[in-house]
Amino acid sequence: MKIPILDLKAQYKSIQKEIDNAIKTVIAESAFIGGRHVEELEKNIAAYCGTKYAVALNSGTDALYLALWALGIGEGDEVITSPFSFFATAEVIAKVGAKPVFVDIDPTAFNIDPDLIKAKITKKTKAIIPVHLFGQAAEMDKINALAKKHKFFVIEDACQAIGATYKGKKTGNLGDIGAFSFFPSKNLGAYGDGGIVTTNNKDLADKIRQLRNHGSKVKYYNDEIGVSSRLDGIQAAILNAKLKHLDKWNKARNNVAKTYAKLMKNVSGIILPNNENCKLKIEHCQHVFHQYTIRVKNGKRDELKKYLADKGIQTMIYYPVPLHLLKAMEYLGYKKGSLPEAEKACSEVLSLPIYPELKNKTITQIGKILSNL
Ligand SMILES: *Cc1c(COP(=O)(O)O)cnc(C)c1O
Repeated sequence: MKIPILDLKAQYKSIQKEIDNAIKTVIAESAFIGGRHVEELEKNIAAYCGTKYAVALNSGTDALYLALWALGIGEGDEVITSPFSFFATAEVIAKVGAKPVFVDIDPTAFNIDPDLIKAKITKKTKAIIPVHLFGQAAEMDKINALAKKHKFFVIEDACQAIGATYKGKKTGNLGDIGAFSFFPSKNLGAYGDGGIVTTNNKDLADKIRQLRNHGSKVKYYNDEIGVSSRLDGIQAAILNAKLKHLDKWNKARNNVAKTYAKLMKNVSGIILPNNENCKLKIEHCQHVFHQYTIRVKNGKRDELKKYLADKGIQTMIYYPVPLHLLKAMEYLGYKKGSLPEAEKACSEVLSLPIYPELKNKTITQIGKILSNL
C-alpha cells in the first residue's frame, strides 16, 4: 500500500478533457501573458469571493508582497502576524522593510490568538496578516475590531483557504486585501506558480495592477518602480476550468475529514482538528481542509510518522520550525520559549493524506491503522 499525502494526477485525470482544451485554446489564441483568460479569472475570483476586484499575480507570495507595498508599508513600520505559517507570510513583511511582530497562536485552531494581539500593538503597527491556516478562517471579528480601533490594515493570508467562510463571508473578503496562492498543491492549484489579491478598494486594486506591470498603466509609460508579477494565460485558463469544481472538491475534503474524525474519535494520545473544544466557534466557519492536521501528544509525533511511513502512508509536518526561530528571522531576537504555543504545535503536528479524490476505502484503511495504535 502506498498512499501519498496528495495526488495531483488523480485530479488531472478526472478533468483531463477540460484542462487539455483550456490549454489548447490559449495556445491557439497566443494569449500567453495577460489577455482574456486572465481577465476572466479576475472576474471569476472576485465574484467567487464576493469582492469588487481581483488582480492576478504570479504567486501567493507576491500577492502578500504587493498588498503590503500598495498599502505603503515599509521602513519603520510593524506588521503583526502568526509565527505558525509558511515562511512567505513573514518574509514579505521584512522584504518591504517593515518589522514582523509575531503573536502566539490559539492552540485549538492553529491561528493567531486574537486575545494576545492587543499587547503587541504599538504606534508603529500598520497592518496585521492573519493566516487562515490549513483552510480554517482566523477569528476575524476580533481582528477587524482591533484594526478599526487602532487604525491599521488587515491583509488576509488566505493562501490555504480559498472557499472557506467566516460567518457566511468568504475569505479574501474579510479584511482590506486578501492574498491567495495557486501553487499546484493548494485547494485551487495551477500547473505552475500563480496567485491573486482580492479587495473592495478600487485604488488598491489599481495600484497593485500597476505595480505588477513595471509600474505602468500604459505600456512603455512607467510611472513608478514596480515588478514583473503577471499570471500566464495558460495558468488562468486552467484555473478558470478548475474553479467550477472547487466547491465540490472542498466538500469532498470535508467528507474525508469527517470520516477521519469518526474513525479516530477514540484514539488516545492524538487531538483531532476542528473538534468541539476549539476556542473559535467552529459553527461560524466553513473549513476547507487544505490540510488535515492532528496533534500527537507525549512526544510521539516522529515515532507515529515513521510508523505510518513503514505502512506506506505519507504524512507531512507543517511546520517543523516556527517562523520566529528560523535562521532568517534570528535578527528579530526571539528566543526559544517566547511563543510557546507555536513552538509546541511544531513539535506535535502531523498532516495526514487529504485530497478530494481520496477514496473512502483508503481513508478507512488509514483510520484503521491509526485506531489500532
Ligand atoms: C502557499 C502559501 C504562501 C505562498 O504562496 P506561493 O504561491 O507559494 O508563493 C503563503 N502563505 C501561506 C500560508 C501558504 O500556504
